[in-house]
Amino acid sequence: MKVGIVGAGLVGSTTAYSLLMRGVGSEIVLVDKDARRAASEADDIGHAVPFTHPLTVRAADYDGLEGAQVVVVAAGVPQKAGQSRMDVLGRNAAIFADVIPSVLNAAPDAVLIITSNPVDVMTHVAVRFARAHGAPEGRVFGSGTTLDTARFRQLIATRIGVDAQHVHGYVLGEHGDSEVLAWSTMSVAGMPLDEFCRHRGATISGCDRAGIDDAVRNAAYRIIEGKGATYYGVGAAIARIVDTVLGDHRSVLTVSYPDADVAGVPDVTLSLPRLVGGDGVLDTFRPDLPEDETTALATSASAVRSAIDEVEASGNLPA
Ligand code: NAD
Repeated sequence: MKVGIVGAGLVGSTTAYSLLMRGVGSEIVLVDKDARRAASEADDIGHAVPFTHPLTVRAADYDGLEGAQVVVVAAGVPQKAGQSRMDVLGRNAAIFADVIPSVLNAAPDAVLIITSNPVDVMTHVAVRFARAHGAPEGRVFGSGTTLDTARFRQLIATRIGVDAQHVHGYVLGEHGDSEVLAWSTMSVAGMPLDEFCRHRGATISGCDRAGIDDAVRNAAYRIIEGKGATYYGVGAAIARIVDTVLGDHRSVLTVSYPDADVAGVPDVTLSLPRLVGGDGVLDTFRPDLPEDETTALATSASAVRSAIDEVEASGNLPA
């Protein structure tokens, strides 16, 4: 099973490394406009093969993506300290006008997972190219808030002393400043979070909630301030999504995909819980949210929609 990765920078190469560590797929192909970088990353990651799983890792041109079941798109410029994800929008939209048609031509049957930021807008752009190319619906989606949801679950799990695998709940909306930590969706052991806490004699105070919200929402900013970029967490999250697609696991993940309407905002791409399998996004679920979370989701959807309007005005999208 072949997995392509376009953009062999920090996110792309860490994704390749994460796939190798998990033993996902049988062949990884790295494509980058900087061919030397891709070749060196492939060599370096390939040297971990004898210690991990028997995959092949190589660098190639777009032609090398032929027959790939999944292609991860991590090409683009990353945000720098002090920049928001939206600040890199224009440059990445221009890069996508080149990258996405090349991927669709080389691997027309692949599922495309978009990770470049701002990931919701970039996914909207990629889906527009895919539709113009005649690709089936659902085949192109973004990593969205998969990592944010995992961070949210992990922080609550640590707070209440339960394995995060048994803590369920979602971060919805934009992967970015306006994302919505949907506390109302949190459940543990079949109980809403508050009921579980009462049962255990635990409390999550308003102050705890504010701290968790900040830790999830601003995690990337803090890491970028400290080390210049984020890549391990997102690489692991993408490897998990690729595994889901290759194995047709039908997992419920908060990936980014276009919706005709979200909380009254039309034609917008963001994260909701979605069923993900071998053909990409198979279904979307709309949790019944309380008024404050619905309002926050509408605000988040409007923020993404405004950025999409900006790209549409720039002429970097097919009709
Ligand atoms: P990076 O600069 O390390 O790597 C980007 C790579 O893209 C470079 O190797 C560059 O040569 C390549 N590239 C640029 N234009 C290209 C083109 N036209 N064709 C082929 N390759 C091209 O950056 P990074 O840290 O790996 O980040 C990559 C993207 O991922 C950024 O947009 C970043 O904001 C985003 N990101 C997303 C998440 C997430 O959670 N979704 C997390 C971190 C970073």
